[in-house]
Amino acid sequence: MAPSLQAVRGMNDLLPAEVARWQRVERCLAQVLAAYGYQEIRLPIVEPTALFERSIGEVTDIVEKEMYTFLDRSGDSLTLRPEGTAGVVRAGIQHGLLYNQQQRWWYRGPMFRHERPQQGRYRQFHQLGVESFGCAGPDIDLEQIALSARLWRRLGLSGLRLELNSLGTPDSRARYRDLLQAYFSAHEGALDEDSRRRLHRNPLRILDSKNPDLQSLIAEAPQLIAHLDEESAAHFAALRAGLDALGIDYVCNPRLVRGLDYYSRTVFEWTTDRLGAQNAVCSGGRYDGLVEQLGGPATPAFGFAIGLERLLALLALDAGDAAPETPHVYLVWQGEAVMPRALQLAERWREALPDLRLVSNAGGGSFKAQFKRADRSGAAYAAVLGESELAAGQVQFKPLRSEAAQQQVALTQAIEWLRTTLTLAERG
Ligand code: ATP
Ligand code: MG
Repeated sequence: MAPSLQAVRGMNDLLPAEVARWQRVERCLAQVLAAYGYQEIRLPIVEPTALFERSIGEVTDIVEKEMYTFLDRSGDSLTLRPEGTAGVVRAGIQHGLLYNQQQRWWYRGPMFRHERPQQGRYRQFHQLGVESFGCAGPDIDLEQIALSARLWRRLGLSGLRLELNSLGTPDSRARYRDLLQAYFSAHEGALDEDSRRRLHRNPLRILDSKNPDLQSLIAEAPQLIAHLDEESAAHFAALRAGLDALGIDYVCNPRLVRGLDYYSRTVFEWTTDRLGAQNAVCSGGRYDGLVEQLGGPATPAFGFAIGLERLLALLALDAGDAAPETPHVYLVWQGEAVMPRALQLAERWREALPDLRLVSNAGGGSFKAQFKRADRSGAAYAAVLGESELAAGQVQFKPLRSEAAQQQVALTQAIEWLRTTLTLAERG
């Protein structure tokens, strides 16, 4: 036997039982997003490499070492998207949707980063992201954070912690950058290789380091929040007052800088202490400069992304596994002559009752073997069609989940019987 092929390391299969849980969560998220007037946008998974270099920032973990980048057959450098915002902005500019208008969009899908796979950190993972364009004030920051808080509530999740910080404007950040550079330069000997490289090109990135040996040095570093410009400080104060008014708890974390370069003013993260080191479930913030930086009109923007694997892992801690949706009916039939009639019947029922979940037996088998499959399918009823039923123009419905008696129904009445027994809607 040839050696069996395996999925790529860090890229996971989602088997049907797992997908059922994802679909339930995704339905719930989509419902809340619609309630806030956000519309779904669907974009390519592959983008020109330059898009990510120009948006995420060249001196970031993602661009320096995590991207799946390759030359296609025409020699163009392409990258599997490591995050969603850059593509959303690219599309907004390309289709002229960001001129003097407000947009509220969301997206969902796989992202790719060549990181070290571990619990809660994968090479293909999924995000649901929310973006809004054209709103400069703290009201949209508040709206999106309230939206995220409602998502957790709707999913029955509690115990998530909201961490908040402000990065100011590019100007106040530049001044702070000098302070930070002076501070870390004085401690250059204590830095690791990554941080030493960043010291001159992008010292803020050092604050985002996950190296445990650097944490005390980072904790003592000057804080950006103490060097905010006046307008950013007012923006931040208004957001905090709004969160208080809405009863959303938060903690200010002056170390929160986020792993991408494009943020300005508000940044936030929802974290948990129930998932070990991979503690961020959702993160985002304001990125007022990005649209212009990518060649569009100056447009304020705010967004966040949820790591769906981490969200699902968190939900599973409380809920356990959910079963996939089971069929209403499993059609048991036998006899070569019966085959076309059985499948024809199944087609008619599905045609008349769009919500009916009907599995038709395939691959033959004795009635006994078929009933075993019917039982394993989780169906509520077996519908039985043999030569004698067919001759009599009837079908038997046998309840599989209760002791109730089997019922004989005329074929002409079967759709009506199914509709009322299973309380299904008719074709509209
Ligand atoms: P982390 O600090 O955990 O590396 P990040 O700052 O790189 O996260 P973002 O780029 O902001 O994360 O992505 C938003 C969310 O996507 C994160 O909060 C997290 O839940 C999730 N996420 C990021 N990277 C991964 C990954 N490799 N595997 C699974 N989920 C991820
Ligand atoms: Mg990361």
